[in-house]
Amino acid sequence: MIACNLHTHTTHSDGICNADEVLLRALDKGFKTLGFSDHSHTPWYADGSLPKKLDDYVEEVYSLAEQYSGQIEVVCGIENEFDSWQEDKRLQYRIGSRHCLPAEDGPFVIDESPEQLEEGIKRYYGGDGMTLVKDYYSKYPSDAITYRPEIIGHFDLIRKFNKANRFFQEESPAYKRFALEAAEAVGETGAIFEVNTGSIARHRRRIFFPANFLLRFFLEKRYPVMISSDAHDPALLDGAFSEAVARLESIGFKSVVVWKNGGFREIGIRDLLL
Ligand SMILES: [Zn+2]
Ligand SMILES: [Zn+2]
Repeated sequence: MIACNLHTHTTHSDGICNADEVLLRALDKGFKTLGFSDHSHTPWYADGSLPKKLDDYVEEVYSLAEQYSGQIEVVCGIENEFDSWQEDKRLQYRIGSRHCLPAEDGPFVIDESPEQLEEGIKRYYGGDGMTLVKDYYSKYPSDAITYRPEIIGHFDLIRKFNKANRFFQEESPAYKRFALEAAEAVGETGAIFEVNTGSIARHRRRIFFPANFLLRFFLEKRYPVMISSDAHDPALLDGAFSEAVARLESIGFKSVVVWKNGGFREIGIRDLLL
């Protein structure tokens, strides 16, 4: 059994399977709770193919929740782009994420390809990756305070294409300072930080978002964390969960947050994978 995964995508946004296929796979894999979190409608992201019809999405998730009640707890969430935020009373949780930064000639997507990132750094940041980093992290405090997401998705996604420090030095004091200042402002709102296993599960970079120094900071500050896989393919619903548990345990975490019986609960980290 796996207690919970609240970060998953379906064909309502850029996932590859329908919600019912995702649900059946979650049942197969022994999940107790499955949260759907398709992207908010963001015209400039993922070809704009994101839930234009929020009603259809919400109704389908609620109907699955009813149909499978007693077998698996189904929760209706959203991955909300900070710059195209959607609200609806029926959404049970919001993952606040940033995949784009505002720019003069329209939003600049940071997680599409290394080429696009490189081009954006040249065009909008004078070729300086650290200026991009500063801009990226500087948005978080006001985003978190304005929108109050329950969960922060892949806090340091800006690292996605930074293999071998291609665009900026992740070990530099400047990088860490920008990230830690943002983390503290966000953490003080009470938001849960997601430990996103997607990059490892998809065999991209062998990194979790967030990096270890941030995880250590969350532990020190007692900010809550939650493990999720950001699965666009239901085969990866539980991708790298056990690695994430091992990583968090090695840092010293004793508990993680899950969704259970209609709300967020803290459970012992070992109980995530019972
Ligand atoms: Zn995301
Ligand atoms: Zn996602």
